[in-house]
Amino acid sequence: MTQEEILSLVKKRNPNEPEFIQAVDEVLMSVMPVLDRHSDFRNLKLFERMTEPERLIYFRVTWLDDKGQVQYNRGYRVQMNSAIGPYKGGLRFHPSVTASVLKFLAFEQIFKNALTGLPMGGGKGGSDFDPKGKSDNEVMKFCQAFMGELARHIDDRTDVPAGDIGVGGREIGYLFGAYKKIKNEFSGILTGKGIGWGGSLIRTEATGYGLIYFAENMMQANKDSLKGKTCLVSGSGNVAQYAIEKIIHLGGKVVTASDSSGFIYDEAGFTMEKLAFLKDLKDVRRGRIKEYADKYNCKFVAVNANESSNPLWAVKADCAFPCATQNELNDKDANNLVKNKVKLVAEGANMPTTPEAINILIDNGVMYAPGKASNAGGVATSGLEMTQNYMGQNWTREEVDAKLLNIMRNIHDTSLAAAKEYGKPGNYMIGANIAGFLKVAKAMQAQGVI
Ligand code: NDP
Repeated sequence: MTQEEILSLVKKRNPNEPEFIQAVDEVLMSVMPVLDRHSDFRNLKLFERMTEPERLIYFRVTWLDDKGQVQYNRGYRVQMNSAIGPYKGGLRFHPSVTASVLKFLAFEQIFKNALTGLPMGGGKGGSDFDPKGKSDNEVMKFCQAFMGELARHIDDRTDVPAGDIGVGGREIGYLFGAYKKIKNEFSGILTGKGIGWGGSLIRTEATGYGLIYFAENMMQANKDSLKGKTCLVSGSGNVAQYAIEKIIHLGGKVVTASDSSGFIYDEAGFTMEKLAFLKDLKDVRRGRIKEYADKYNCKFVAVNANESSNPLWAVKADCAFPCATQNELNDKDANNLVKNKVKLVAEGANMPTTPEAINILIDNGVMYAPGKASNAGGVATSGLEMTQNYMGQNWTREEVDAKLLNIMRNIHDTSLAAAKEYGKPGNYMIGANIAGFLKVAKAMQAQGVI
């Protein structure tokens, strides 16, 4: 089958799932040269099989709000691929969650997890529940009801979820407590747990830190570094916060951060003190980012999700790190980045850059790293948390950070090597897709037609 025939088959089998099709299209385009070399992979329909979840669990979550009113939401777990290890991937609680969004994330997760070099398959889950505006008690009740069903389908050798948008330390705590109660078992069933009850040091920081380690590797491959560079970051959640922190550690200057209401432009740049304010604002007080601008007397720009471009990406800078959500950087934004001579775009979020925008960046010589490579530090450290849980050990902060640094360097080098081998030197997107695909394809081939 040609590339178009495979894609049209996937489209036909998954109608009304644009995010999933977008993710499949990008990987398929990248791995066609591999399929052309491997008639065995084609005969086994390996790519086609990877687009079909091994299992998709879809359930009702019913709970009582603080007024005693009945509320209900949809819960999902996509167990996408277990060829190289137990299903592994986050849970997202956000009103935009659909089967399409979770299937795209689970599909991406297969290759990302393979790139880490750790034994983890691909999965993702979540709910259309919106934690915004809910009391702690309501979030706890929702988490307990959600786990009431999910607990039937997971355990520490089968499927190990983690956090994602809307699921941070608080939610992982409530979910873990509910699982323990239901199963009467204390096991490493979730990652991102608190230190003191099975969590790993550095897990909270890992996605943001790993992203910046990856970007520093990209800069070094071009005999440059992040030191002294002006950086744009979008988002203000877990990934954005620790990306900002690591850029500061490496001597760069971060001038933006955002949430779903708009962005702040702080020309003087973030300091550790300003970052501590942001963490408290978003994680503890759960406020809006405008408060940062009011406190530090800098600019706040309201952004409407329906605008045709995001003015955050028109701010002059050297490097850009989209760390909020999917499709947040489009072709117009990419043109603005090119116009401003941005050198590097590395994704902290999953699929934040639209396909048109990626082409514009690559065609104009901007170094571009896809999330499945550059944000893999989070799941990699989740893998390290699983290992510590299995062994009953706690590694030091330095040990975990050193492993994370090493994993990010390996992903960088493996992606570059695969890109070179397949005639696309310097193309991190194609390299990451090919390297991840090859590892999973070989495992599926060895395990027979199942
Ligand atoms: P958080 O929930 O901690 O933060 C999300 C941030 O993005 C918030 O600032 C939120 O704003 C903003 N945001 C969410 N949706 C939108 C939207 N539609 N428009 C504008 N802003 C939005 O999530 P994370 O930081 O954990 O995740 C961010 C991204 O990184 C996601 O794509 C996730 O899949 C990816 N990722 C996360 C990993 C992790 O370890 N946490 C690992 C790998 C990838 P507001 O406060 O207004 O909601």
